[in-house]
Amino acid sequence: MATNPKTEPAVSAPAAAPSNFIRDIIIEDLRTKKYGDAVIQTRFPPEPNGYLHIGHAKAICLDFGLADEFNGRTNLRFDDTNPEKEEQEYVDSIMADVRWLGFEWDGLYYASDYFDQLYEWAIKLIKDGKAYVDDLTADETREYRGTLTESGRESPYRNRPVEENLDLFTRMAKGEFPDGSRVLRAKIDMTSPNMNLRDPVMYRILHSSHQRTGDKWCIYPMYDYAHGQSDSLEKVTHSMCTLEFADHQPLYRWYIEQLGIFPSQQIEFDRLNLTYTLLSKRKLLQLVNEGHVRGWDDPRMPTICGIRRRGYTPEAIRNFVTAVGASRTNGIVDLAMLEHFVREDLNKRAPRAMAVLRPLKVVIDNYPEGQTDELDAINNPEDPQAGTRKVPFSRVLYIEQDDFREVPPPKYFRLSPGREVRLRYGYLVTCTGVVKNEKGEVSEVHCTYDPATRGGNTPDGRKVKSTIHWVSAAHAVDAEVRLYETLFTSEDPSQVEPGKDFASNLNPNSLETVGHARLEPSLANAAPGSRYQFERLGYFSADPDSVPGRPVFNRTVALKDTWAKIEKRAGT
Ligand code: ATP
Ligand code: MG
Repeated sequence: MATNPKTEPAVSAPAAAPSNFIRDIIIEDLRTKKYGDAVIQTRFPPEPNGYLHIGHAKAICLDFGLADEFNGRTNLRFDDTNPEKEEQEYVDSIMADVRWLGFEWDGLYYASDYFDQLYEWAIKLIKDGKAYVDDLTADETREYRGTLTESGRESPYRNRPVEENLDLFTRMAKGEFPDGSRVLRAKIDMTSPNMNLRDPVMYRILHSSHQRTGDKWCIYPMYDYAHGQSDSLEKVTHSMCTLEFADHQPLYRWYIEQLGIFPSQQIEFDRLNLTYTLLSKRKLLQLVNEGHVRGWDDPRMPTICGIRRRGYTPEAIRNFVTAVGASRTNGIVDLAMLEHFVREDLNKRAPRAMAVLRPLKVVIDNYPEGQTDELDAINNPEDPQAGTRKVPFSRVLYIEQDDFREVPPPKYFRLSPGREVRLRYGYLVTCTGVVKNEKGEVSEVHCTYDPATRGGNTPDGRKVKSTIHWVSAAHAVDAEVRLYETLFTSEDPSQVEPGKDFASNLNPNSLETVGHARLEPSLANAAPGSRYQFERLGYFSADPDSVPGRPVFNRTVALKDTWAKIEKRAGT
C-alpha cells in the first residue's frame, strides 16, 4: 500500500495469518529470490462492466492483503478491452468499493494504457512468424478449431507471408475492414489438447468507440493477449485469478516467453460461491434491469455497495474472506458463515437501542399521567467506552406484539395475564388485564409497575424469567424498517428447471417493509450508514432514504432467535 514504508520483504508469514497456498508460493519465491530483489507486485484487474460483489472482495483481499503482508505493491488495473460493455459509472463504483473495503492501490492503470505497446508487440510476433491474419468466418473458425476429443485443422490463411500479414494487420487497425471480417491469431498449435493453444485470437475488429481511447482504435486485443502483457509491463510477480483461467495459463506463459518480457506468473484460486446467492455480474445486471431489485445497491444484492447499504462492515467482510481462505478446488460457502462474521463484528461496535417493530400498546395504570422518568441505558456492554444514554419512560409504552400472549404456550415466559416481566433498563411490570378491539384482538395491555425495581433491580431478590424491550409511546420516533430475507429460495440459485430462468428461484418474501416501527428518540436523526443493535431483534443500519425525524432502517442481520427455534422444533 502507498502508505507502507518499503522495507526489506519479510520471508516468513506473520504468525496470525492462516496459511494459504498462495502465501506459501510467495514465501518460497522470496526465499529463492525468483524475482531477484524486486518487490512483490500484485494487481486487482476488474472489467468495468458492472459493480463489484463479495466474490471480488475475496480477490481484492488476496491481491492487496498478500502484497501488504510482504511489503509489496498492488495496482488497480481496469481490464477495459471490451468497449461495448464498459462504462465510467462502473469504474467509479469499483474505486469507491475497493477503498471502502480498506485498500488503497499503488498504481492505477487501464489495459487501454497499453494498446500502443500491445500493438507493437503484435507486429513483432507477426514479423517473427508467430502471428497471422485469418479471414475465416466465425462459423468456419469454430469448425476448424476441433473439439476436446478432436484435433483442430490449420486455417488456409495460416501460412500467409509475413509481408502480407503486416499489410493486412495494419489495414485492420486503419479501419479498412468491417467488424468480424478478419482477426489476428497467434500461430501456436492446432493439434494441442489445450483448446486455448489452438491459434487463439489476439485481435478482433470492432468499430466501437472506447471510453478512454475514443475512436483511435477499431481493433481491440482479446483478454488473453492483453492480460499477461499488462501484468508484465507492471512487473506483476504474482498474478492471482480464479480457477477457470487455469487452462489459459499455458497461453499466458507463451506470449510472455515469445516476447521475452518480464516473467509474471499466474496463480489460480477458487472462486467464492455462497449459498442462496448469485455471484456473476451478468446475472446481477439482469436482476437490476428486470426490476427484481431496486438497483445495484439494493441491500439484498451481494454487491459491495448492496451489503454496505445493508450495514455490513468492511472488517466483517475481510474477516470472513480471510477465514474462507484460498484453495485449488471450487466449493460453496454457507451464507450463515458470512452472517456469523457480521454479527461478531457488529456485536463489538454497534451501540444498542430499543425499537419495537410491531407495536402493542401497554398502559401502566399506577404510573402517574404526564410523568417521564429518564432511565440509564448501557450503550454497548461489549464496549465500556461507549458509555450510557437516557431513555424516557412514561405511562404508555409499546412492546412487541410477540412479547405478549393472552394464553401463553408452554415455555413462553414473556408477558401474559398475571405474569411479571422486566422492562429492559426500566421496571418490573405485572400484567393485570387486556382491552380487545371489535375483532376480538388484544389492542391494549394493562399493567402495574413496582417503583422499587427502577433500573430492573429486584431488591427482594425475586426472579422474573423474561426481560423485554419497549419504547415510550409519547417519545417514540416513527420509522420505516426494511426486513430482508435471502433473495433466492434455493441454495444454488444458478440451478434452474429446464425452460425456466434463474428468476424463478427468486424469494417473493425477500423484502418486508414495516411501515410504522417505534424507535427510542435517540434514533430520530440517525446518520445514514450508522449501525445499531436493536435489542433482541438484530443489527440495523440507517438507510440513505432516511429524512430527519423519520428514519429508515435496514435489518443487516437478525440476532439468533432462540424462541423461533424452540417454536420451530415444537412445530407450533
Ligand atoms: P463475474 O463472473 O461476476 O462477471 P468476473 O470474473 O468476470 O466476474 P472480473 O471483473 O473479470 O469479474 O474480476 C476481477 C477479478 O475478480 C478477477 O481476478 C476474478 O477472477 C475475480 N473474481 C470474480 N469473481 C470472483 C469470485 N466469485 N470469487 C473470487 N474472485 C472472483
Ligand atoms: Mg470477466
